[in-house]
Amino acid sequence: MTTLNDFSRCIVQYDPHALPVSSAQAIVREWASPVTAVERVPLHDALDRVLADDIVSPINVPAHDNSAMDGYAFDGASLEAQAGTVSLRVAGKALAGHAFERAIKAGECVRVMTGALIPPGCDTIVPQEAVTREADTVHFAAGALTRGANRRLAGEDLAQGQPALRAGRIVRASDLGLLASLGIGEVAVRRRLRVAFFSTGDELRSLGEPLEPGCVYDSNRHTLFAMLRRMNIAALDLGVVRDEPAALEAALRNAAESADVVLTSGGVSVGEADFTKQLVRTFGDVAFWSLAMRPGRPLAFGRVWSGGRPGAGHPALFFGLPGNPVAVMVTFYQIVREALIVMSGATVPPQPVISATSTQAIRKRAGRTEFQRGVATRDAHGQWRVTPTGSQGSGVLSSMSEANCFLVLVHEQADIDEGDTVDIMLFDGLV
Ligand code: AMP
Ligand code: MG
Repeated sequence: MTTLNDFSRCIVQYDPHALPVSSAQAIVREWASPVTAVERVPLHDALDRVLADDIVSPINVPAHDNSAMDGYAFDGASLEAQAGTVSLRVAGKALAGHAFERAIKAGECVRVMTGALIPPGCDTIVPQEAVTREADTVHFAAGALTRGANRRLAGEDLAQGQPALRAGRIVRASDLGLLASLGIGEVAVRRRLRVAFFSTGDELRSLGEPLEPGCVYDSNRHTLFAMLRRMNIAALDLGVVRDEPAALEAALRNAAESADVVLTSGGVSVGEADFTKQLVRTFGDVAFWSLAMRPGRPLAFGRVWSGGRPGAGHPALFFGLPGNPVAVMVTFYQIVREALIVMSGATVPPQPVISATSTQAIRKRAGRTEFQRGVATRDAHGQWRVTPTGSQGSGVLSSMSEANCFLVLVHEQADIDEGDTVDIMLFDGLV
């Protein structure tokens, strides 16, 4: 068995005391293997799931040539035959769902509505706004149109036999409509990834419990729940675990038994009660990293087994996240998220990064990546501007709620002046 330690040592630049974010991401990507089980679900349940197979279009969409406009369909040859003004007699009409079936004769046209089948012998549509109508005849300028105008061709949206959506796609709103347009009511998707998580710390209290001096409410379990839910991952909340090796071991084994991935928070730093670190060293194949990253410096990554030692029982990928609430969110988004996408069987969608002008000077040390919380707006010229939220402390969760983006201050970057350009990652996508 290749161990994580063997593997990590092979990565160029590997320095466990200051591992660059990009190297950590590369190692994690390498160790994330997709779930293989497939299930068939009804169309609506496919939203946010991962397609198991290519979806090959069983039909042409649209199925037949049809009109893109309300207007008059005619034989485009008339455009050359009747230069200047074209005059045609209206022979009948076609509505969406109601065809005009006989072939037109020379000098005729057919009143058509958007979506109506194009009548036999016709190939061009003049929009109704472009004609003048006198009784049964329409007149329009030939020069305003080219042959084939305003016609939607069969298969122009999706051609029969062509892949309409690729395996690995995370199904979005447009895809549900697209699948429906193909007549597909049931879809093969990968089974949902299962992620178990718990918080560690003797100071943590759960909701509803009294808060004694020195205690804090556990917030990490709730942000983790929410981040997993938004990725449509099956989240298994295993509660708060005390800083006690036996309790931690039981919780880890239980988590590995029931999940593909185990996430913990707290206990991976160098404090006296940081047992997660001591414990999982013997327990699994785990590397402890000090990431060249802020927030989120301490992080454990590896595999744990339900049997309590490498190779025994059910394996799970393991991320020991830091305890500080902002660090949990930053490490989740920057390190864990991509692994979860890969393990779900999905193709990782590109993460847009945009350039913004910093409205203020920012202190930054070269040699680590910083993910500050920022508020981005667009100015009157359409340029993005970004302002860091007030406190950037890794325990200040309100900075995440206030922000709408991460400022990504890359590894080599040093202090930033007001007016400098920085990278930002917006929190919300539109679709
Ligand atoms: P640790 O890494 O366990 O030393 O935790 C670092 C800091 O994060 C401490 O101030 C903890 O009280 C805090 N912390 C740890 N876990 C949580 C949690 N689940 N919810 C809120 N704060 C936490
Ligand atoms: Mg702790």
